[in-house]
Amino acid sequence: MEYFSKHWLGYNETNSLSNTDRVHLNQVFANRSEDDEIYPLTVSEIAEAQKADAEFKHYFKRNAVFDKGLEIKLVENTKCVCKEGRLVIPKPLQRRAVMWYHHYLQHPGHTRLEETINAAMYWKGMRTTIRSITKSCRTCQTNKKRKLKYGHLPAKTVIRIPWEALCVDLIGPYTLKGKDGSQIDFMALTMIDPASSWFEIVELPVVNRQRTMNVKGRELLTNDEIFDKSSERIARLVNKTWLCRYPRCRYLIYDNGSEFKLHFEHLCDSYGIKRKPTTVRNPQANAILERVHQVIGQMLRTAEIRYGQISCPR
Ligand SMILES: [Zn+2]
Repeated sequence: MEYFSKHWLGYNETNSLSNTDRVHLNQVFANRSEDDEIYPLTVSEIAEAQKADAEFKHYFKRNAVFDKGLEIKLVENTKCVCKEGRLVIPKPLQRRAVMWYHHYLQHPGHTRLEETINAAMYWKGMRTTIRSITKSCRTCQTNKKRKLKYGHLPAKTVIRIPWEALCVDLIGPYTLKGKDGSQIDFMALTMIDPASSWFEIVELPVVNRQRTMNVKGRELLTNDEIFDKSSERIARLVNKTWLCRYPRCRYLIYDNGSEFKLHFEHLCDSYGIKRKPTTVRNPQANAILERVHQVIGQMLRTAEIRYGQISCPR
């Protein structure tokens, strides 16, 4: 379940001045539990189900003979049957596993869902289980735009070496309108390695800006909430989300907006990273980002059922 959520690095440094009613993206994605039967499987549940399963229970015996690739491993202090590092899920739990991931990952299509589940779990016929569940999911049916044109990404020719370059961009603002009249606006910074397509997204914090307005000859002080896309903030987020965590890139590609001036330029220079401001975005990163934007837009639309109306810029 953490496979997706690690990309939503919630940024919670909003200052105390900001509206306490503001809802954070993390809450939108993590705390949705309208379907009470949807719970993640626990390791002990999986182990119990394995012990009750005719196919797997004998592996818990002493001197058990294991089929190819199978072994008993200690997961969270619990003995479990594993296959190549993945938990083996017995039949009675398979549906629930898929339902949980599908729900928690905000209704991805079967390909992405399979890639995620397959990294942590194993059962025979996983693809069939996943397809039957995604096919019959009502939220998916009512929300996904089937007529979306899925373009193919351009061939990867320009940058081939992983971690060599980083493309940084801003997306949004997106607006989520709740049925109760509440509203969430968000804007995010996206970072992508164009060679491997490794991707990070981080929410821009909101700051208060005071300004004076002249109303009928009177000076009035007003408070606006704006997204902090100052070069200082952008530099800090890129540093914290990418540069501190991944191998140092040689090039940093970004568009020529003011968000990427001053502090951002200092940051690149201090790390000895070559700056590549472009007016035309890197077509490869651009294409990957466009696809990512589509996916995010789709996830937001599936949230619509619960949260009312959503408008996205593209
Ligand atoms: Zn769905």
